[in-house]
Amino acid sequence: MRRIGLIGGMSWESTATYYKCLNEKVRDTLGGLHSADIILHSVDFARIVELQTSGNWGRATELLVQLAIELEGAGAEILLICTNTMHIMADAVQAAVKIPLLHIADVTGAAARAGGAKRPLLLATRYTMEQPFYLERLRQKNGLAPLVPREIDRGAVHSIIFDELCKGVVREPSRHRYLEIIERGRAEGADSVILGCTEIGMLISQADVDLPVFDSTLLHAHAAIEYSLAEPTLRPLPQAVAYRDQI
Ligand code: GLU
Repeated sequence: MRRIGLIGGMSWESTATYYKCLNEKVRDTLGGLHSADIILHSVDFARIVELQTSGNWGRATELLVQLAIELEGAGAEILLICTNTMHIMADAVQAAVKIPLLHIADVTGAAARAGGAKRPLLLATRYTMEQPFYLERLRQKNGLAPLVPREIDRGAVHSIIFDELCKGVVREPSRHRYLEIIERGRAEGADSVILGCTEIGMLISQADVDLPVFDSTLLHAHAAIEYSLAEPTLRPLPQAVAYRDQI
């Protein structure tokens, strides 16, 4: 089992979903009391949002690169950034470490393509819906032709993420608002929906929507476990060197 390094806390609400999903998947696969081998660095999200809203992506990149290097140093064998938005700096993060960074857009795009999607509606933060880093990646790596909601709907999707979901607030009117936006997307030709923000699964799931739904959080976590369990040997437990030196 390979050790999974998580850069999380963006927000911790969705990192909790990752943690649960990763552990459940290992238990379901290996059985018994097995659980995932994880190192998590969970950040103070307010400080990240400050950098995002002030457009200080350079500083945000430095931070994520630093966290990636620390997780690699601590023995992580694969790296996940547990937010779609912060894949803006995915290339810089990957360039700073030797272990693979499992890119959330590639995993989600591949699942969408395998599920027969061609024109998925992308629901995400404004950063993800409006900058090219994610849409281009879906186009180039998986041949998809993603759509995004119109301006006013992008605003609603974005504020529901930051004002509600990232604070653990799940409201019925917001669910209806999302479903209305999905309906409009379908009328404009969307054949599926990508939940391209790690909190959206708290609000809507496949059960709410007729179109195929691809939840980036669950797909990302499942792909990480697949990679982790592709190495069947369990790591030896660490030697308690410091403790033994004391006695
Ligand atoms: N978790 C969100 C995402 O997947 C948004 C939080 C953030 O801005 O990182 O994009």
